[in-house]
Amino acid sequence: MPIDIVQQDTIASHIKRQCSPQPSVIVIGAGISGIAAARRLYDASFKVTVLESRDRVGGRIHTDYSFDCPVDMGASWLHGVCNENPMAPLIRGLGLKLYRTSGDDSILYDHDLESYMLFNMDGHQVPPQMVTEVGDTFKRIMEETEKVRDDHPDDMSVHQAISIVLNRHSELRKQGLAHEVLQWYICRMEAWFAADADMLSLKTWDQANVLSGGHGLMVQGYDPVIKALAKDLDIRLNHRVIKISNGCNKAMVTVEDGRNFVADAVLVTVPVGVLQANLIEFIPKLPDWKVAAIKDLGVGNENKIALRFDKVFWPNVEFLGIVAPTSYACGYFLNLHKATGHPILVYMAAGRFACDLEKLSNESTVNFVMLQLKKMFPGASNPIQYLVSRWGSDPNSFGCYTYDLVGKPDDLYDRLRAPLGNLFFGGEAVCMDDHQGSVHGAYSAGIMAADNCHKYILEKQGHMENPPLVSVRHEILETTIPLQISRM
Ligand SMILES: Cc1cc2nc3c(=O)[nH]c(=O)nc-3n(C[C@H](O)[C@H](O)[C@H](O)COP(=O)(O)OP(=O)(O)OC[C@H]3O[C@@H](n4cnc5c(N)ncnc54)[C@H](O)[C@@H]3O)c2cc1C
Repeated sequence: MPIDIVQQDTIASHIKRQCSPQPSVIVIGAGISGIAAARRLYDASFKVTVLESRDRVGGRIHTDYSFDCPVDMGASWLHGVCNENPMAPLIRGLGLKLYRTSGDDSILYDHDLESYMLFNMDGHQVPPQMVTEVGDTFKRIMEETEKVRDDHPDDMSVHQAISIVLNRHSELRKQGLAHEVLQWYICRMEAWFAADADMLSLKTWDQANVLSGGHGLMVQGYDPVIKALAKDLDIRLNHRVIKISNGCNKAMVTVEDGRNFVADAVLVTVPVGVLQANLIEFIPKLPDWKVAAIKDLGVGNENKIALRFDKVFWPNVEFLGIVAPTSYACGYFLNLHKATGHPILVYMAAGRFACDLEKLSNESTVNFVMLQLKKMFPGASNPIQYLVSRWGSDPNSFGCYTYDLVGKPDDLYDRLRAPLGNLFFGGEAVCMDDHQGSVHGAYSAGIMAADNCHKYILEKQGHMENPPLVSVRHEILETTIPLQISRM
């Protein structure tokens, strides 16, 4: 029996009408987490309806095809190119290619220094040896911040810790061009967290459990993964949820146009930025401990400006960086030509700078980015097409992914993921094992929330033994070809 759609009705009257033994769940959000959860429950014979506010699936995974080739404007890397990555079976099974941009423990996170070129604001290339040397200094500085952490029981920002290190070790201070290169390393670190160093918690910034195998760009984009997981699911696009009422073993979800959906349980996977903005009313109100956990999490911002040219005029390196006196003013382009063969550069901005760029029109943003590019390559042609993301001001995301603010309470994530009766929480921010902010973390969080929901409902129905769960579509999992990884 399908989940009822009702006008202005009460939960109680629905309970009377619904005698179906098939358990029903409403999943809110059709990002990777929501779709993974829905798939899991659908495969376990639950009646699942996914309500999605946008006119597309994928959420912060968004592969754009308007350049006649896939360009990921949201997530584009698989962080952890290894079989332990929960996404690996799906990516392997779909035969998707990965282009590895870095190995393990790179100082530049998802890049390494094998294929780079840095320039100063005057367009002069920074000698590669200087980049390597300053990289070693950066590494030392960050190692020294561990001692600062040991000396200070109270948390502080990474920026503050770097200042303390530079006061303690004047030999690590850099001048002139080398200082600018150091700022560029800080810019790269900030881009990883999508937040400025003065916002990041010293206590936890390097404690994440990074999977092995380095970082691989999804050459064909992330979209095929979303499409495969979403196949056959009942996903209602343009359904913006504004209210969730739960209790009495049922839950009712109200969308913008006033329609109500009723099910045995609800699984919320909307971004933390959306929860922080109070765009969804919860009845009864969320408890104070849950509200505080939502509020106490940092939400970063990162934007991409993708530029398609008629021909390649830049060198055959993976990325092109611009160094400057502050990390805010540094920047870099990812060269998609190297990984995909298409003449595309993607400028990437993070933290406050990404928010400031969103205040400009698309045209002004592209002009700004082109000024940067023309400093490096005065003969650069103008792009024939461009794409500009606005993750920070998009009411469907309000940011790109979460990070730990200074002074984050230890139990924050436990509170964030804790279910409230038949109300369950998924999404990137609630994943276990410190994989927040990633596609695989969001995927795992969806699976975990689905399993908790499954167990809860079957117990309520008096089934003590749960049927075995399957994680993704059988035909995909059954394929055993290895991950396809390249580097040109
Ligand atoms: C620019 C950028 C680059 C990134 N790069 C990488 C990367 O390279 N590798 C990586 O692993 N991760 C990366 N990430 C992070 C990764 O994309 C996310 O962690 C992951 O996609 C989050 O999935 P999710 O399902 O938790 O949330 P989302 O994908 O945001 O899904 C939530 C869904 O809820 C919907 N929604 C919101 N409000 C409502 C409402 N009121 N009613 C109904 N639906 C609603 C949204 O439209 C959305 O579809 C990046 C993110 C961004 C933005």
